[in-house]
Amino acid sequence: MDVSHLLNDLNDAQRDAVAAAPGPLLVLAGAGSGKTRVLTHRVAWLVGVEGISPHSVLAVTFTNKAAAEMRSRIEQMLKVPVGGLWVGTFHGLSHRLLRSHWREAGLPQGFQILDGDDQYRLIRRILKGLNLDEGYYPPRQAQWFINHHKDEGRRPEQLSAAQADPQHREYLRVYRSYEETCRRSGLVDFAELLLRAYETLQNDARLREHYQARFRHILVDEFQDTNRIQYAWLKQFAGTQNNLFIVGDDDQSIYGWRGAKVENILRFESDHPGTKVVRLEQNYRSTGNILKAANSVIDHNSGRLGKKLWTSGEDGEPILLYTAYNDLEEARFVVESIQEWAQSGGKRSEVAVLYRSNAQSRVIEETLMNAGVPYRVYGGLRFFERAEIKDALAYLRLLAGRHDDPSFDRIANVPTRGIGLKTLEILRETAKNAERSLWDTAQQIIASNALPTRAALALKAFLDLIERLAQDTAGLPLSEQVDHVLAQSGLLEHYKKEKGEKGEARVENLEELVTATGNYVHDQADGLEPLSGFLAHAALEAGEGEAEAWEDSVQLMSLHSAKGLEFPLVFLTGLEEGLFPHQRSMDETGRLEEERRLCYVGMTRAKQRLVLTLAEVRRLHGSEHYSSPSRFLGEIDAKLIKELRAQPTLSRPAPVSMVAAAAKGEAPPGMRLGSRVLHDTFGEGVVMSYEGAGAHTRVQVNFEQAGAKWLVLAYARLHAM
Ligand code: ATP
Ligand code: MG
Repeated sequence: MDVSHLLNDLNDAQRDAVAAAPGPLLVLAGAGSGKTRVLTHRVAWLVGVEGISPHSVLAVTFTNKAAAEMRSRIEQMLKVPVGGLWVGTFHGLSHRLLRSHWREAGLPQGFQILDGDDQYRLIRRILKGLNLDEGYYPPRQAQWFINHHKDEGRRPEQLSAAQADPQHREYLRVYRSYEETCRRSGLVDFAELLLRAYETLQNDARLREHYQARFRHILVDEFQDTNRIQYAWLKQFAGTQNNLFIVGDDDQSIYGWRGAKVENILRFESDHPGTKVVRLEQNYRSTGNILKAANSVIDHNSGRLGKKLWTSGEDGEPILLYTAYNDLEEARFVVESIQEWAQSGGKRSEVAVLYRSNAQSRVIEETLMNAGVPYRVYGGLRFFERAEIKDALAYLRLLAGRHDDPSFDRIANVPTRGIGLKTLEILRETAKNAERSLWDTAQQIIASNALPTRAALALKAFLDLIERLAQDTAGLPLSEQVDHVLAQSGLLEHYKKEKGEKGEARVENLEELVTATGNYVHDQADGLEPLSGFLAHAALEAGEGEAEAWEDSVQLMSLHSAKGLEFPLVFLTGLEEGLFPHQRSMDETGRLEEERRLCYVGMTRAKQRLVLTLAEVRRLHGSEHYSSPSRFLGEIDAKLIKELRAQPTLSRPAPVSMVAAAAKGEAPPGMRLGSRVLHDTFGEGVVMSYEGAGAHTRVQVNFEQAGAKWLVLAYARLHAM
């Protein structure tokens, strides 16, 4: 095999890493310096030059998209398919392991994956069953509690019930009950995939030795974002013998809020004596100006390992900064700029619009839609998470396994078939007490005449429907199964009745589901039925691109989902205090620094042109917020920026919010954005935003000691300084 080309398009430091002798290796380098490229070349080098079997290689990357790309690049370089090579995400690979070894893992063969939204619903039901008031025990917090402990590798038994904190005690009860329900229903949530895979290897020496003997080479991209359980998981595979090839960038660690431990990368050298450390300093992605701007932002963080990044490329265009009146105007500017880009020959797929929080995407989506510009949303409310799709999937899941309680609960009365809330409650209660599935319990209470006749008949009709669907669809190709289920369950009809555009969109989505199953290529190697395979795929790969692959479309995504990607033109939107950096992060240095890293990640996605935008007024969660420019903007050398401002034109009526703001006049005296104020209790602070007028004016002040607070001006004793 001629593989001489493998080292040609690499610089010296990259080559040094790709062709390194066996042993632990850490590539620590800034954005766009070729880390992912080095990792991909390393795999090709191992297989093509060192003659290592693809079977012995395990490569972990951050997204399914990255994994697919890596596989295809390796195949291109080697010019042969590399079956047997394990490349995927931590979740995807854990899933694969558990499918192959469900017995060892103590799972039913047909276990199903519970995504975040399903998990939330299930937890709500459990809270209710335990008579815990959602006001005191918010389901989101319970969900966080469970996932957090799983990410740290802790089961309920390992948590002390003797804790003084009553909330902790109750959440622990929820965690226990949740585990019990998942076990009974054969459900596995995302955190469970990892934890269960880890525990399985840890407890089963034979299995562990098998995999340790197999995966001689383990490579990990984006290592800075691994959490405790992922690190422990890697160690199970690596043992003491295997070769770890780790790449990462401490400046791009952005999942601290989800338990990622940047220390893992900082500790790697001491954990693995003899580690070869390679630093890459040349950036191949961005223009000089973009790189300088990104570097000057990240320079404001303390406690960095510190890296120099340079480029041999041109300085390029200045960075554009656009200040819009409001979020609609901001979206309009973005969309018009994209249209110009496309008219001058650029592709839409070369453009990414990035935002800090998913809620920002709606206005941008609407504006794109109105302008007829195709786009794709990565992350956010994903196709597979939409209500109608989840309903359809719940039917399919119940066909695949009758004991799937969340699915049963979701669709028993969708569309309405006379199964009342009361019946469902009796059912849940009985199931809980008997520790059986809803399905079994339903059969049992029908048989024992425990329900009024009408309720019993309705419930029986539902059970019969599911059995009939199972019989009728057995052996059909997947897309026909789905088509059949949609029609016979009444779900399609149900959504057709829903009026307006929303109903239409739902029906379209359901039709799209039939298409999606038709396009789904079933991998026999998973050892699953096509339906189960598709359901796992839907749960794991949701949201990584949903528009038609052939359509040239703009890419919309949160900053978190943009990690590792690159685009010629990047819009970084919503650069406002309170939004980015996010409100919740402003009181804590650690979190603020994570926001700054996120900003660094966003800026370094851009190859040629970077456009930063903000809005003076933004509607969020139903109310208007006036805000000041993000502090990150102030951290960029002004010489690198070209400022644009919205020009009022006669042809465009001012948005209502602006008219209202004008009518209500200026900011309250002494309370302009950014002015310093003194409060009797909270001390000194800075005005961040205000809303309302007259006696109802509320101001948001970020106090140095007490953090950010909303105060009603009429009551707050605020003094201008
Ligand atoms: P990130 O930190 O954002 O994940 P990265 O360090 O993984 O970035 P890559 O995505 O591997 O960087 O590379 C950035 C870009 O530079 C890619 O387009 C890649 O093809 C290109 N590149 C990397 N090394 C070279 C090289 N030696 N010669 C030419 N182009 C290169
Ligand atoms: Mg990368």
